[in-house]
Amino acid sequence: MRNTSWLEFDVTALRHNISVVKQRAPSARILAMLKANGYGHGADWVAANISALADGYGLARLCEAESLRASQPEARLLLLGTLIDRSLLERCSELRLDLVIHRLDDARQLSRTPLPQAINVWLKRNIGMNRLGMNHEAFVEAHRLLADSPQVADIIHMSHFSDADEPSTPVTAEQCQRLCSSSAELGRVPRSMANSAAIIAHPYSHFDWVRPGIMLYGDDPTGYLQGGQQLQAVMQFKSRIIAIKDVETGDGVGYNRRWTAPSPRRIATVGVGYADGYPRHAEDGTPMVIRGQRVPLAGRVSMDLLTVDVSTLPDVEVGDEVLLWGHGLPAAEVASHCQTISYELFTGISDRVERHYPD
Ligand SMILES: *Cc1c(COP(=O)(O)O)cnc(C)c1O
Repeated sequence: MRNTSWLEFDVTALRHNISVVKQRAPSARILAMLKANGYGHGADWVAANISALADGYGLARLCEAESLRASQPEARLLLLGTLIDRSLLERCSELRLDLVIHRLDDARQLSRTPLPQAINVWLKRNIGMNRLGMNHEAFVEAHRLLADSPQVADIIHMSHFSDADEPSTPVTAEQCQRLCSSSAELGRVPRSMANSAAIIAHPYSHFDWVRPGIMLYGDDPTGYLQGGQQLQAVMQFKSRIIAIKDVETGDGVGYNRRWTAPSPRRIATVGVGYADGYPRHAEDGTPMVIRGQRVPLAGRVSMDLLTVDVSTLPDVEVGDEVLLWGHGLPAAEVASHCQTISYELFTGISDRVERHYPD
């Protein structure tokens, strides 16, 4: 070990999680979302270990798709909604990437651009997020244009839910109906709607392709999954104690002495900070695990270090391992102390953190 913080990855957990996708959506094909370097888990490693159940992979940037194409020469890769111009269309064709078409103008440009080989198009309907996608009229027009275009091979109808992680609202069913009614006018075209939350909580939305992201990495955004279907953490974020100090009642710890000791306490300084990807917004009390026991963050997270109250651990020593999130301490729980979500924690780990993959 050269640095004080590192990531460990669990291939058994990853395979378990994709098997849960298959159990929840047995008749859908799986487009595993590997954007943002597989939510920080390493897109090449994730793809290599889920290929038995995944039917394709989703990326958000051309550079991500180019990089995964190098390790997955045959796999189906989808480039999600992006800025489209002629050179991007040509590159998609060369790399055999499927492409999301989310504007009628982009559909027109594609229909006018000669390509070395036809590409698969995922045509995106706006169903309520108002971020990407077309309204009914534009969607129908784009479909008709592309269905007749020699540049286009398969067409898939897709959209993306805004509220699937709130299982009680009727919004998701209404949004689903918007894609269905547009799609129904255009014959039998494969459909894709469901992200992780919808895979878990809205089975009517599974259709032909599901698009799991966060559930592959072990977070259930609905909290629905029980028993053997509970998801498992794939990433463990760890560091080590590099110093220990005893402080007196009233002593402050860290920048601006945000935390002050309510009684004599023992403080451990850990070799990880916000420049590694541990969130600076973590509040006092944010849990971490040392020697199998939860202990609370005490004081502001700094760039390279954080401080934790280890008064309940009499045997604690410099060099002890600290679990920041992973097995027994879900990233989602840590995130709830930092005004964020597991997605942001996973994707925010910086390069200087060592990656340890199983052999
Ligand atoms: C990221 C993404 C997903 C996966 O969402 P999760 O909540 O991580 O399951 C699905 N579809 C699209 C279009 C996405 O951008």
